[in-house]
Amino acid sequence: MTGDPSGARLEKTALFVSHTAEMGGAELFLMDLVRHGPPGWGACFLADGPAARVLEGSARPAIVLAAGAGVLSVRRGSSAFRLGGAAFGVVRLARDLARAARGYRVVCANSQKALFVAALATRLMRRPLVWILHDILTDPHFSAATRRAAVIVANLCASRVVANSSVTAQAFVAAGGRASKLHVVHNGFDPAAHPRGGLDGDPDRGAALRAEFGFDARSVVGLFGRLTPWKGQHVLLAALATVPNVQALVVGGPLFGEAEHEAHLKRAAQDLGLSDRVRFTGFRADVPDLMAGVDIVVHASTEAEPFGRVVVEGLLAGRPVVATRGGGVAEIIEDGRTGLLVTPGDPDELAEAIMRLVSDPVLARSLAQAGRADVAERYAITTTCRDMAGVLTDVLRPG
Ligand code: UDP
Repeated sequence: MTGDPSGARLEKTALFVSHTAEMGGAELFLMDLVRHGPPGWGACFLADGPAARVLEGSARPAIVLAAGAGVLSVRRGSSAFRLGGAAFGVVRLARDLARAARGYRVVCANSQKALFVAALATRLMRRPLVWILHDILTDPHFSAATRRAAVIVANLCASRVVANSSVTAQAFVAAGGRASKLHVVHNGFDPAAHPRGGLDGDPDRGAALRAEFGFDARSVVGLFGRLTPWKGQHVLLAALATVPNVQALVVGGPLFGEAEHEAHLKRAAQDLGLSDRVRFTGFRADVPDLMAGVDIVVHASTEAEPFGRVVVEGLLAGRPVVATRGGGVAEIIEDGRTGLLVTPGDPDELAEAIMRLVSDPVLARSLAQAGRADVAERYAITTTCRDMAGVLTDVLRPG
């Protein structure tokens, strides 16, 4: 305890670092960890943004290294001059991170970009590094070079790799990652923060949602997630065009510079004649409340979801969930018992599943009841924090 009269510095166990402070799934995971984990866990963002604002008023405000935004936004195909500048910037950012993380016993990188910066920083600090992997590395949208670089750095520098689902873990190994370093730690949720709608919860939430968005008595489905092509909002619109008696709430904003896609979706809704049945809300911070007010939660991603937080949240809201088959979602939902799974990118199958639930309230209620009971137990935030603490204890074990 020498050198720190307050003793406070020695309490610091792990600093969780994301390259962005946008409210994406990975950042929400990080925020839940520092809010629900032991006091020695802290958050750091390599850019300023809304996630930093949310933690600002909390007992554990995040460290923000705002310079990361410029340094880490460099794209493939940039000029050699810009790439050289970015490389220099990364080294400086790593030095800043090493300084900010002083006193923490381990640094946990919560994204791929954070991994590269944190790998350098932890070398400088001589501290262990853990990488929390939120992506399916074998997905075609990762270039071979990015995939290889991430796996090499993880194999060489990370003491442990924490994958958010079995699918992500398997993809890490398939991409050349070392299986001996892997642990699976799921996203976790606090059931108390997820009100339950419908007959088994608070049925008034449906009326409140209808009043807020001007929906009539017909069924309302909700799709929650950032507006990006692979989240499949266009598939839901195409499905709705074939089912005239269903209304839809599309919740989410274009988080990573995809404003054009938002305009495209709104035009598509108009062209399909859906303007009176579909509402776009933009980003909302009250997803659990909105979920409790819709009749059905739809997940329509056209690519495999690494985890799929919105699927667990839909089930916690006590709503029947229709989701696309594959990735982490297949680990969450048991088709026909806790939800309905459909083929990604198939509007007809999606429309059919929605109509099945609309026309069979007994089935819808039994799926919702079984789904909520299942996920409340399997995806508790207390379990997530305990599992993460286990990994950290392992990393910090002497020898
Ligand atoms: N979300 C939110 N507001 C919105 C849309 C989404 O808070 O307007 C949250 C949603 O509740 C979920 C997360 O963003 O917790 C998305 O996580 P998911 O794993 O579904 O997808 P990702 O963004 O990580 O690909």
